[in-house]
Amino acid sequence: MEERHGIFPDKVYLNGQVITLSDSQPQAEAVATLGDKIVAVGPTAAIKELIGPKTKDEDLNGKTMIPGLNEPHNHFGMYGPAAMYSVNLQSPPLGSIGNMRDLISALRRKAEENSSGGWVTGRGYDDTLIAEKRHPTRHDLDKASSEQPIFISHVSGHFSVANTKAFEMAGVGKDSAQPIGGVIRKDPKTKEPDGVLEEMPAQMLVARLLPVLTMDQRLEGLSLAAEHYLREGVTSCSDAGVNFPGVGSSREIVAYQEALKRGILPLRITMMVGVHFLLGAEGKNPSFLTGFGNDRLKIGPAKIIVDGSIQGYTGWLSRPYHVPFQGDRDYRGYPVTPPENLNTLVMAAHQAGFQIAAHGNGDAAIDAILNAYRLAQEKYPRAEARHRIEHCQTAREDQLDRMAELGVSPSFFVSHTFYWGDRHKNIFLGPERAKRISPLKSALKRGIKFSLHSDCPVTPVSPLFCVFAAVNRLTRGGEVLGPEFRLSPEEALRAVTADAAWQTFDEKVKGTIEVGKLADFTILAENPLTVSPERIKDIKVKEVIIGGLSVFNAT
Ligand SMILES: [Zn+2]
Repeated sequence: MEERHGIFPDKVYLNGQVITLSDSQPQAEAVATLGDKIVAVGPTAAIKELIGPKTKDEDLNGKTMIPGLNEPHNHFGMYGPAAMYSVNLQSPPLGSIGNMRDLISALRRKAEENSSGGWVTGRGYDDTLIAEKRHPTRHDLDKASSEQPIFISHVSGHFSVANTKAFEMAGVGKDSAQPIGGVIRKDPKTKEPDGVLEEMPAQMLVARLLPVLTMDQRLEGLSLAAEHYLREGVTSCSDAGVNFPGVGSSREIVAYQEALKRGILPLRITMMVGVHFLLGAEGKNPSFLTGFGNDRLKIGPAKIIVDGSIQGYTGWLSRPYHVPFQGDRDYRGYPVTPPENLNTLVMAAHQAGFQIAAHGNGDAAIDAILNAYRLAQEKYPRAEARHRIEHCQTAREDQLDRMAELGVSPSFFVSHTFYWGDRHKNIFLGPERAKRISPLKSALKRGIKFSLHSDCPVTPVSPLFCVFAAVNRLTRGGEVLGPEFRLSPEEALRAVTADAAWQTFDEKVKGTIEVGKLADFTILAENPLTVSPERIKDIKVKEVIIGGLSVFNAT
């Protein structure tokens, strides 16, 4: 019997509603696994016949099993440290900051806690959700502490504010030149910095002084992120910002490796790595290419940031913002990476063989990205490059045509319809452009494959929430934003499983429940294809299985 054991499954799951997302057998009741793979899918009676002497069985008892959920763009590595060390400055419903006074007192409390003079950091404030409807200034932050340096980040991640102490330490003042791709906002009268730093080139002027995380802190952070992501049913995720030119970033890949080795990283991670780091010295010496690694941890696309965020007025649009920014009726945002630099970087990364993921929110940024991809493909044609556009919020119909033509795949930040939809309509984009943010149905009609993401910690990690947003397009105010762009639940589910796997070249190993694929499953209390669409976000995750092992159990 011992020799024969290998031919029996280790485990069978019976009596469930199995949504396979495979065309040949879309639905089943039961699944058998052996090692980390799926060995059979079918009706309960047929799977029962495969049971051997050592096979364990689990009665799904009518629960729904779907392919393991895939979070295709988020900041897994940053999530833990942010949660552990930074003051939460989010406004309701995600936090409790209602006005500037609340924000200052939250920071003051933290400053008093660590009165040793160290840095006080905060995250997630939203200028459009606090009563004053503006960013804090350095003088606001000085009220929390003038002795300790303070550095806080906007919910989008595209702005930071520092206090006077931090500006002094960084040597940034009246005479500091504006960096390329960023802005040190200055007081129009005194010309002194007002505290707000737009985009990474400006943010880094101060952020480079923040203490570098130790390996232990990073590992603790990864372990915390894993715990929280598993609760949301996530089995695979792409960290969209590894080794950016950023604070202490060069240790991030090593931290992931170490976490994997120590067994504290149950999820499968794809690392989108900063393009400059990947291209290596003089842009010619990549150490590894997209795909290097294994099914647990691998190098994904080269990441490039092309513009900022629309809700921060730094998204780069082809037409001006709806409510003019600081009274400027022509203001359209700006590129963080100017088109000439973008073309050079894309050409180099494409020629070297990388998949590329370019962050583009505004349609002018999307134009620039598509131009760069076209130029690269014209010079070095490569089938199946699967270059991506991250967020892709304001894609126009003509741009979707070009994406289909070039084989470009977007990852849409669809939760914006809920979290910022009302403000996109009334403030940033106006009704016409707001209703078509994340035009999922238009992309689908053209046969474009895409994924849906949370950009966590910008919004809470939850692939089921993305499905809810894609299916309903409900704003926080209760309006349906662009009903014609809604997806069916199945179409949306595909974008957080099968098509998210396709984007990382993993369609042969995961994303559907089929024989030969990895045994990654998310087990849900209810069936997202049959519950009422508004309730999809409330479906409870009961169990998560990765590579045949149960790694989260809600009971
Ligand atoms: Zn991101």
